[in-house]
Amino acid sequence: MSTAVLEKIKSGKDTLTSWMNHMHKTPELALKETGTAKFIAERLREIGGWEIVEGVGKTGIVASMKVGDSEKSIGLRADFDALPIEEDNNLPYKSTVPGNAHLCGHDGHTTMLLGAAKYLAETKNFNGTVRLFFQPGEETMEGAPAMIADGLFEALCRLPGHGRGTRLPLLKGPLGTLGTLHQPFFRSGCPDSIAIKAYHAMQVSCTQVHLMP
Ligand SMILES: [Zn+2]
Repeated sequence: MSTAVLEKIKSGKDTLTSWMNHMHKTPELALKETGTAKFIAERLREIGGWEIVEGVGKTGIVASMKVGDSEKSIGLRADFDALPIEEDNNLPYKSTVPGNAHLCGHDGHTTMLLGAAKYLAETKNFNGTVRLFFQPGEETMEGAPAMIADGLFEALCRLPGHGRGTRLPLLKGPLGTLGTLHQPFFRSGCPDSIAIKAYHAMQVSCTQVHLMP
C-alpha cells in the first residue's frame, strides 16, 4: 500500500477508534444487531456518497458507490454480530452488555469496512462500482443465507452501476403465468420492454415483452 494511502487512513485514526470502541461497548447477538446496524447506516450517511439499502436479511446493509465509467465492480464484506460470552477484563471500552462481547473481532471488521467507506468516499480514486456488504449473524451462519433469501441480489439491482444483467425479481406461479413484485425495482432509465428467457430442460426460449407505462 502506498504511503499516501496509509497517511490518509491514519489521519482518521481517532474517528475509527471511537467507532470501534462504541461497537465494542454495545455488542449484539446474531440477527438482533439493530443498534449496530443503525450505527453503521448513520456513519455511512455521515460519510456521504453511498447508496444504502438497509434491512437486508433482518439487519444487513448493502452500500454502493459508482465512480467513472467502468463496468467493473468489487465487493467488500464485514460482519458485525457479537458472541454470547461475558467479557472479563477492565478495558476502558469493555462491553456494557452482560453476557455479550465482541471477542471475535467483528467490531474491528466493521470499523475496517467503514474506514474503507470513508477513504473511498473522500478520495474517489477508483473507476467502477464498489459495494459494501455489512453482514449480520456470522457466528450462527444465519446472516449470509438470510441476506440472500431477503433479496440481496434484488437490492443490488436497485443500486446504481448494476446496468447490465439486472435480474428481475420473479415470483413462482402457475404454469403459463408470470409474477413479479408490486413495487418499483428499476432505479432509473426504465426500459419499455424486457426480454424473458424461459428455461425448460434443454430448451431455452426468449420472448420480448412490452411493458405498460
Ligand atoms: Zn466471528
